Amino acid sequence: MKKKQLLICLFLVCTILMGYSQTKGNLKITILKNGFIFDDKFDSKKGSIVMEEDKIKDIFYTDDLAKYPGATIIDITGKYVMPGLIDSHVHLATASYQDREKYNKYMQDQLSKMIYAGITTVRDMTGNAIILADYKRASNFNQLPAPSIFYAAQFGGPAYFDMERKFSKDKGDTPWAQTITEQTDMKIAVAEAKGAGATGIKIYSDLTSDLIEKIVKEAKLQGLQSWSHAAVFPATPTDVANARVNSMSHAFDIPFDFVTEKMNRSKRPAIDEKKLDKLLLLMKNNNIILDATNYIGNNNKLYAGVTVTKRAHELGVKVSTGTDWPYLFEKDNVVPLFKEIKILTKDCGFTNKDVLISATKVGAESIGVEDRGVIAIGKRADLYITNSDPAKQIENLQDGFMTIKSGIIYTENKI
Ligand SMILES: [Zn+2]
Repeated sequence: MKKKQLLICLFLVCTILMGYSQTKGNLKITILKNGFIFDDKFDSKKGSIVMEEDKIKDIFYTDDLAKYPGATIIDITGKYVMPGLIDSHVHLATASYQDREKYNKYMQDQLSKMIYAGITTVRDMTGNAIILADYKRASNFNQLPAPSIFYAAQFGGPAYFDMERKFSKDKGDTPWAQTITEQTDMKIAVAEAKGAGATGIKIYSDLTSDLIEKIVKEAKLQGLQSWSHAAVFPATPTDVANARVNSMSHAFDIPFDFVTEKMNRSKRPAIDEKKLDKLLLLMKNNNIILDATNYIGNNNKLYAGVTVTKRAHELGVKVSTGTDWPYLFEKDNVVPLFKEIKILTKDCGFTNKDVLISATKVGAESIGVEDRGVIAIGKRADLYITNSDPAKQIENLQDGFMTIKSGIIYTENKI
């Protein structure tokens, strides 16, 4: 290379580097100073968190902020910082597309309330993907105070959809709600779900164990998760667990594994303790998360879910906190996720720390995302800050000070 060419090259490299460092210099740095920061086991230590745009850049346990001159400082002395909460089972868009206008305002209000209650991510377990994609986009671009949204496409057998569509205005299959039979080209079915923006397949109802295995295999090949109901009919919970799905929803449906005669949807058999342990250990070995949804279970008098969840926790099965609650806030204005959390501590043997891990780290695992769920360098700046310690008293989760989702601050307080 000639000298002149070399100089030009050097000039170009310098320009690019300067441009790069200048962009870097312009990135917004915010420091959350002097709070109690929870680690992945929910032990807390006094320190500060440095956020750069939407990521956690640094965490330090000294008073020395000199490393970041010009940073915006938010003093959180005496407050507690945990990862943002995750509801692993919501339904944000079950209304038909035609009714959208009517429900939009209501749902936007619910999404906003979720953010202020500390929920930074939700997993939607089937709904209209046109509406969900819209909310998801609005949330990603911070056009709406809303949690990050991940959603599923619903796969079920003809018996389920025939029954369902008798009452529905939306006729026929869509990429997000597909009838699956032996004749289905699974590659196309999963590709369509993926094209509709789903990141998981909800294995819903009326499917054989063979078909479930095919779905799980193809979903995995295309980088999608498999989120199943615990009982799918005719497939049993053991069939579902054997298919190595990523999560199984509804602890109260687990007793369908203990039928001795013909499976009957309307009649849940009694719990067989020996068989229950066998199934739960299978779930544990296959790393399947139990999306227990006890809040909706108890409201429908399906109290067996609590017994199942308690035993699952004792045996070391991971349990996520999902509500499956269609009306996100009731009149008492308490976030339904808190009610699910409360059942887990009160009736299922979870310590406060256990349940906080369920509502954050396990929640992220249930969705199949690794960029959130714990406070660590490089993770998303998804945080929930409370005025008092939730590990000490779980009710303190309702004593919120600030939610941060991908670096954006949501607070009703003056800072
Ligand atoms: Zn559901």
